[in-house]
Amino acid sequence: MGLYEEIKDVAKEIKKQGNIEIYAQLIDLSSQALDMQNEIVSLNAEVSELKKSKDIDSKIERHSEPYITLKGDTELILYCSRCWGHEEKLIQVKCYDSGSFKCTHCENTGVYDEAKDEAYSQRQSEMYRNLAARNRRNQW
Ligand SMILES: [Zn+2]
Repeated sequence: MGLYEEIKDVAKEIKKQGNIEIYAQLIDLSSQALDMQNEIVSLNAEVSELKKSKDIDSKIERHSEPYITLKGDTELILYCSRCWGHEEKLIQVKCYDSGSFKCTHCENTGVYDEAKDEAYSQRQSEMYRNLAARNRRNQW
């Protein structure tokens, strides 16, 4: 039998006996029990979140750039290190072909692939040089 079924049974008995004072005390106590039960549910949820967070924390691999990965992750997903550090949330970052990444939550940016980043920078420089050369030719 659950706590509330027992309280209801005791309340019925007290009501039968007509002891209003004890009946009121029982109602007050059952209200306190309900508050405590709600608090227990809330604390259990908090403990569960903390366990999950601690579990993840033990799997985190840090890198020189501001992103993190998880040990044993075969997909090698990159997460934002700032979001993990501030809110303990795993936010997947958006990776670009340029070798850079950006967190869609906090705007944190960095480079996840140096070779791609270098190649992208060279392509950009070449494009600007070509544009500048074309503009010089058009001015004559
Ligand atoms: Zn972030």
